[in-house]
Amino acid sequence: MDPRVQQFMAIIKARNPGENEFHQAVQEVAESLIPFIEENPKYKHAKILERIAEPERTIIFRVPWLDDKGEVQINRGFRIEMNSAIGPYKGGLRLHPTVNLGILKFLAFEQVFKNSLTTLPMGGGKGGSDFDPKGKSDNEVMRFCQSFMSELFRHIGADTDIPAGDIGVGGREIGFLFGQYKRLKNEFTGVLTGKGIEWGGSLIRPEATGYGATYFAQEMLTTRGDSLKGKVVCISGSGNVAQFASEKVAELGGKVVTSSDSNGFIYDPKGIDCDKLKFIMELKNERRGRIKEYADKYGVEYFEGKRPWIIKCDIAMPCATQNEINEGDAKLLVKNGCNCVSEGSNMPSTPEAVQVFLNAQILYGPGKAANAGGVATSGLEMTQNSMRLPWSREEVDEKLQTIMKNIHKTCVKYGTKESGFINYVDGANIGGFVKVANAMIAQGVV
Ligand code: NDP
Repeated sequence: MDPRVQQFMAIIKARNPGENEFHQAVQEVAESLIPFIEENPKYKHAKILERIAEPERTIIFRVPWLDDKGEVQINRGFRIEMNSAIGPYKGGLRLHPTVNLGILKFLAFEQVFKNSLTTLPMGGGKGGSDFDPKGKSDNEVMRFCQSFMSELFRHIGADTDIPAGDIGVGGREIGFLFGQYKRLKNEFTGVLTGKGIEWGGSLIRPEATGYGATYFAQEMLTTRGDSLKGKVVCISGSGNVAQFASEKVAELGGKVVTSSDSNGFIYDPKGIDCDKLKFIMELKNERRGRIKEYADKYGVEYFEGKRPWIIKCDIAMPCATQNEINEGDAKLLVKNGCNCVSEGSNMPSTPEAVQVFLNAQILYGPGKAANAGGVATSGLEMTQNSMRLPWSREEVDEKLQTIMKNIHKTCVKYGTKESGFINYVDGANIGGFVKVANAMIAQGVV
């Protein structure tokens, strides 16, 4: 490791003990940025890297709620307000039993660069709770969301901090959270994104992360004169991002052969077509069942406890969670001929896996670039809320496509090496950094 990175990381680790995912996310960015900062000393003198890795504000709170049996349950709520140099804090809320401070800090940190890449005026934040929505009734989820918002409402606002969905937070949860915010503040504002279409939401917002990651894959393939047509694609996850990535890949002529959840994955060599995807959506969004049911219904193979990367494919799109592709998975993907990875989830590849992709010089689009379509469309939802005027599906989709193309261009600008190889990791990290860093310098030591 570069000794300058090592020295910087020693400080980060000492200041943030035990926050492994946060260390991982910061180190990846530091590896791209430290050489760049050496060449641009104004960032070094202003200690931008040191400041950008320290949240502006961290809020941790108790979330008590009553379950259906009348028993008191207690969860922990968080909101990390990471950076507001270029706009109000913006980033999702995650509800998952694994949620802790380190995971949310990694997500908030990545969000700062991602939001900057979209070119929209949004700072970075992230939040959530260790509450597990799985197996809970709608009423329990509602009571939890109401309790969570009863504290969060005093820290957020349409011009201050605008949360959205993430793992475990979809349309149902955003509805409950919005209802409680409105009741407490007595105002109808765009304080959350991912709202229902009848009450301030944007068309295409649910689709945007998965669509965007697919558009990004398409842009990467174009640099090599290739396209999605006829390609075999492995997708992990079966939630919001995975569902709409599957839809768009199929629409653009690719064949999605896998879908997964935290129990295992299904392999459908004929491809997950429109009807089969409808089944997954109903299974996951309404019945809240397990992906194994797909295998039972369509008579395909189910792999308990396994991830899809053992299946031969041309393109891999991780769309479930962090660190879901390890070094062994990455080696197997490359060996099996995979030449493009577009990350729908945040930090799905371990540092060793990223190195395998970079060494093999395949098209590797890191999450902070490839999955930025979700937050970009949240930005478009905020614009429509401010104007009090909704745009059509076509208008939003066109803007999303333009944004993904521009993010790709920024990555090419900052990530192209002398050999011509595009290192999208460097491209996204440096491209996302410059605007935030310049704004921080302009605003003084704050
Ligand atoms: P959902 O909750 O809708 O879906 C998550 C999916 O991933 C589910 O299939 C879930 O399975 C699976 N999953 C979750 N945790 C694990 C785990 N530890 N191991 C294996 N599988 C797991 O979330 P989203 O689709 O919204 O989010 C997926 C990823 O995309 C996350 O990394 C998120 O941060 C990222 N992302 C999301 C955006 C959005 O707009 N929603 C925007 C940008 C990034 P199960 O049901 O069994 O838990």
